[in-house]
Amino acid sequence: MQAFNDTADVVHYINGERVAGNGSRSQPVFNPATGARPRTLRLGEAADVDAAVASAKAAFPKWSDTPPIRRARVMLRFLELMNKHRDELAAIITAEHGKVFSDAQGEVSRGIDVIEFACGIPQLLKGDYTEQVSTGIDNWTTRQALGVVAGITPFNFPCMVPCWMFPVAIAAGNAFILKPSERDPSASLFMAELLKQAGLPDGVFNVVQGDKVVVDALLAHPDVKAVSFVGSTPIANYIYETGAKNGKRVQALGGAKNHMVVMPDADLDQAIDALVGAGYGSAGERCMAISVAVLVGDVADKIIPRLAERARNLVVKNGMEADAEMGPIVTRQALERIEGYIALGVEEGAKLVVDGRGLKVPGHEDGFFTGGTLFDNVTPDMRIYKEEIFGPVLACVRVKDFTEAVDLINAHEFGNGVACYTRDGHVAREFGRRIEVGMVGINVPIPVPMAWHGFGGWKRSLFGDMHAYGEEGVRFYTKQKSIMQRWPESTEKGAEFAMPTAK
Ligand code: NAD
Repeated sequence: MQAFNDTADVVHYINGERVAGNGSRSQPVFNPATGARPRTLRLGEAADVDAAVASAKAAFPKWSDTPPIRRARVMLRFLELMNKHRDELAAIITAEHGKVFSDAQGEVSRGIDVIEFACGIPQLLKGDYTEQVSTGIDNWTTRQALGVVAGITPFNFPCMVPCWMFPVAIAAGNAFILKPSERDPSASLFMAELLKQAGLPDGVFNVVQGDKVVVDALLAHPDVKAVSFVGSTPIANYIYETGAKNGKRVQALGGAKNHMVVMPDADLDQAIDALVGAGYGSAGERCMAISVAVLVGDVADKIIPRLAERARNLVVKNGMEADAEMGPIVTRQALERIEGYIALGVEEGAKLVVDGRGLKVPGHEDGFFTGGTLFDNVTPDMRIYKEEIFGPVLACVRVKDFTEAVDLINAHEFGNGVACYTRDGHVAREFGRRIEVGMVGINVPIPVPMAWHGFGGWKRSLFGDMHAYGEEGVRFYTKQKSIMQRWPESTEKGAEFAMPTAK
């Protein structure tokens, strides 16, 4: 695997070019495996947002007027380029995020799925038609692009989450401004350049790097018609309220605390594999990571010793090494937050079965590493149960039966993903029907929907009506227009003063 060695400053991408922008503020971009700071990120200011919006606004009329099949062809070329450069992009992700290389490859592939979906935009936009809605009158509905739209994305999927947004938005005829995470901003520039190579006109896709200053400028800008956000719940809530107050369409996906129920009849080998992969994969920094194991009846005593063994033996190292199972945490602050939660769990009275704190990886002593942590006897009143830790910490809660498991999950403030391991079809069916969570897996630990189904949680995991990508994504980035038409030859004579009805 070829590591990513670029040391150039990470800048904005506006009107088809890399630009340093107007700001003087900057911050380091770390390689979390080594603790080194190979790149510096230029933080944008409101003037950079103004420049990006102006470029997008200028590009929009021609792009939205381009026939959908030609927009789809640009997406097809972008798809080819993403496939060709998948490993380079994955290495960029590992260098800034830390996740293991195979996981980064998987992230790029799941982003590519949405690009493939967006290539079908002519079919998705084709609208409905009724001939002879009344005598001599036809009626059709069509969906038109909104204009300039923005996406604000989190650190944990620097390729896939932007791909939940911009391929669909652009294919639908919008011009897009991406504000990536400050922690791992380079993937966005790489994709911007591939879009240009694919033939996307300048200004249709722009990147403004930065922090709250850029976000607030996007939320306030009158020419930004819609905002898609993915990140933590407090910020999602803020984006939703502020965007809506400013008259924008908003979808804001928030945080999570995903439970996995293990029923006594489950295949316990499969359940253990699922908990280890979904709890510790990507160091628990996935919005669909399993952070709570809900162990029903006598399951806990059977699986906790085996889970502990697996957690202790996780291969934690630089994600570019082929046998790494788990890489570092994204930043030192995040590492401190996670280890702080582990101390809190001990104070709160949970049983610390495996303590991942203080892990040192030989040759990477300055890296931001922690090991896998496992708690037993976690109870719903504890903060380590209620709050999102977003790290490799698995909390086991013991419950007596299925009803208690469902009630526990339904009472939680988050409702992003959930899983149930069982062999009982009735239990599986009841779980799917009764659980108040947006994405459900039956014997599937991370049920991230495929590109044509759409992604979204319930409760405080999603603010807004529309899920990301899939047909809901197309609806989010377009507005419906209904056109009713008749021709003079068929017109009945005389003014009508009553509400028109079908004749
Ligand atoms: P974050 O909320 O800190 O940041 C997300 C984005 O918001 C970034 O671009 C950041 O620059 C911006 N931001 C941060 N603070 C802001 C502020 N005060 N005002 C305006 N903008 C601000 O999230 P993160 O740490 O990058 O990502 C992890 C979080 O994202 C977790 O909570 C995770 O569950 C969530 N997440 C959710 C989903 C989902 O689909 N529901 C997917 C991925 C990640």
